[in-house]
Amino acid sequence: MTTSEKPKVKTINRLKSMYALRAEVDKMYAAGEDATNTGKPVAWVMLGQWAEPILTAMDVISIYPENYGSVCAAAGKAAPFLEASDAEGFPSHVCGYARNCFGYSAKMKELGGAIPPSAPMGGMPAPTLLVASSEICDARFKWFQALGRYFNAPLGTIESPYPGLKESIEPGTDERSVQFLIAQLREFVTFLEQLLGRKMNWDKLDEVARGLAGINRLRWEINRLRKAHPGPMHSKDLWSSITAAFFRGSESKAILDGFQKMLEEVKQRVASGESALNVPEKFRLSFDGLPPWHSLDIFDKLAARGWNFVIESNYRPYTPVNIDLSKFGDPLERYVRERFQSTNNTLEGEYTPEEAAAVRDEITRTGNSTILQIKHVRDCRCDGMVIHILLSCRSASLNLCAMQQKAVDLLKVPALVLEGDMVNASLFDPADVLKKAEAFEETMAYYKQMRKEAGIPW
Ligand code: SF4
Repeated sequence: MTTSEKPKVKTINRLKSMYALRAEVDKMYAAGEDATNTGKPVAWVMLGQWAEPILTAMDVISIYPENYGSVCAAAGKAAPFLEASDAEGFPSHVCGYARNCFGYSAKMKELGGAIPPSAPMGGMPAPTLLVASSEICDARFKWFQALGRYFNAPLGTIESPYPGLKESIEPGTDERSVQFLIAQLREFVTFLEQLLGRKMNWDKLDEVARGLAGINRLRWEINRLRKAHPGPMHSKDLWSSITAAFFRGSESKAILDGFQKMLEEVKQRVASGESALNVPEKFRLSFDGLPPWHSLDIFDKLAARGWNFVIESNYRPYTPVNIDLSKFGDPLERYVRERFQSTNNTLEGEYTPEEAAAVRDEITRTGNSTILQIKHVRDCRCDGMVIHILLSCRSASLNLCAMQQKAVDLLKVPALVLEGDMVNASLFDPADVLKKAEAFEETMAYYKQMRKEAGIPW
């Protein structure tokens, strides 16, 4: 099949419950548009799990330029914003989401603060404030500092502790991280109260935090069901629904209902053996790295070949925390303790005591854990991995080649490595992907035989 040909039938059997969740994202942008009329404060927020419930409890509308980068890429509208970013002097190897945002902001400034007419989904209204985070990459806070060129909006930054894996399992690290976060968020609340001239609504924060924990738990249960054969939920359904969980979670009732329905639908599929493909599942794959938002139709073409993307390593729900929150009187502390993702909690919740001891031993000896990194490939009994190395995101690409080697060495599962970008379509060649896919099927068949000889049970 050429890249321009569309499969004659819908090759991916999309979950019906996904559509309602995807519609919630439209509402997020509609709320942003309404803000222009109602005068509600609008925060441009860097994805990071901590700010949104606090902003919602303070009646501030959150908009996510990072998500908007994927919206523009998927709509085929990112290129003019990327070019505008280049014209502003930002390097082309900077995060694609950031470049999209810089170009958008430059155009907005030219228009005196109006939304650029080419902006998809109604665009992002100009921000009243900016909220950055220090999580994961340099783009996170430097990007938002650079937005000072375009907007006269105050900037708040939330620092998050990111201990190395070895430190993360040492006694006391979790508690120090929790205390650090509580202090950071308390400062953030004070910053907002002073800026907006009103007090925090702690009851609302409690309600939103409970809802978010519920959404995460539902997503975690759904992901566990994805081990089934045939795979009941394609990665495209996760990508279409994840935006609702990450960026609209504060509308918890609608999102909770949506994920509850998704859980029921996936359970039903598992019970009846219904596949995420409308053709026979020939190969089970994991997708590792951020998706090429501009070229998602490539997955329909791969599905036509029987490729079922049954799991991913990005956007995973965290292991729910099972603690009695009633003993903590402070709503901020309850929020942090319920949402803080620790390696210790993952080991307790996802592994047998023997496995957890082996992981701890591996981390203590090497500072890393192969078992942790490729667990999703093993759990879902994948035939192959597709690894997407991104030119503009080092932090999401850094570990992928090591993961590729470990999956071959330990599980005899090969990887198809693609180079590209999540936003910049000109760096991704769908025709080349389809050609490589054909050859990779032979590689997967060869490694299936290798697994058999090695006694690996799939
Ligand atoms: S993690 Fe990667 S994609 Fe996300 S903001 Fe940082 S550089 Fe951009």
